[in-house]
Amino acid sequence: MRAVSEQHIGRPRRVVADLPAYRPGKGAKQAEAEHGIENAIKLASNENPSEPLDAIVQAVCDAARGLNRYADHRAGAVRQALATRLGVDVERVTVGNGSVGLLQQVALTYLDDGDEALYPWRSFEAYPIYTALAGAESVQIPLAPDLGFDIDRLIDSVTPRTRVVFLSTPNNPTGVAMTTKEITTLVEAIPGDVMVVVDEAYREFLDPGFGDPITEVVPRHPNVLVMRTFSKAHALAGLRIGYAVGHPDVITDVDKTLVPFAVNALAQAAALAALEHEDVIAQQVQAILAERARVEVELAADGWELPNHQTNFVYLSLGARADDIAYELEKRGVVIRPFSGEGIRVTIGTPEQNDRFLATLHEVARP
Ligand SMILES: *Cc1c(COP(=O)(O)O)cnc(C)c1O
Repeated sequence: MRAVSEQHIGRPRRVVADLPAYRPGKGAKQAEAEHGIENAIKLASNENPSEPLDAIVQAVCDAARGLNRYADHRAGAVRQALATRLGVDVERVTVGNGSVGLLQQVALTYLDDGDEALYPWRSFEAYPIYTALAGAESVQIPLAPDLGFDIDRLIDSVTPRTRVVFLSTPNNPTGVAMTTKEITTLVEAIPGDVMVVVDEAYREFLDPGFGDPITEVVPRHPNVLVMRTFSKAHALAGLRIGYAVGHPDVITDVDKTLVPFAVNALAQAAALAALEHEDVIAQQVQAILAERARVEVELAADGWELPNHQTNFVYLSLGARADDIAYELEKRGVVIRPFSGEGIRVTIGTPEQNDRFLATLHEVARP
């Protein structure tokens, strides 16, 4: 008999056993403990540095009194409020447990053993994970040297097995975005039964000149699903609510895979309150964008070459130096997100946090 430590307990599916455990961005407390330091700052997960608005916190507290009841599984009020806000029929809107939850639902809905999911790479970590969990294969198309999308190669890489294309635009972690014209070029060049997921987690930080896929692409292409979230611009990452807009039949299919009550009552209350205060949230977004511009100017003055960021973070290509520089920053209390052998992603924080990042980077690395 083999010792228990030599074998798995139970028999996880091969794809699960092979999957590495999910590693979220390192927290400030963890970095402090690891390096024996104080006052670490976390710029690793693209969170909003501000607390949610008071009105949102109040709505969440009020909703807490109803926690003895199950929430509205379909989140009807939130869907209706989103539909009104976006100017689409409510049948075209669904919500999920964060947009990551919706990405998992898309994988469960459209990917089977032997199917392929196609996406640019480097991009969002959830795409390979949910593709693998569905038993499907990832086909990753390298970004262009300037970190832009290689649309021609994406189109050429669609095969009869391709069921889903994931497009993070603006892209995490590079910050580079596609225009709706580019998205349309891709969609029109591939078969209509391939689902194209346009993951706009950073929508609110995007220059409007890139266009709006909800008004410009979804109405003409039923195989396009656009996802957005309350986690970044709305400062609600801890509550878990994201949404998707697409053809009513797509919404119906994706909805079938939603874990019952996965969008909890507090998240629903917060989303409704957030939608009533979009003007204030838009001002906060402008302040973050102004800070990003300031950080970019300072980095450029130091000689760093930067991509065309459309996000609440910046990306530095560092090649083989990425891990070392990330470690030196972290030792000095600036926790960012490294991509081994490629670069680092740094979230825009408060002005003080951004100054600290700039000064520390200046100390540990030059272009
Ligand atoms: C942050 C992020 C998400 C979202 O997150 P939720 O918190 O699950 O809504 C989705 N896609 C990308 C590309 C992201 O960076």
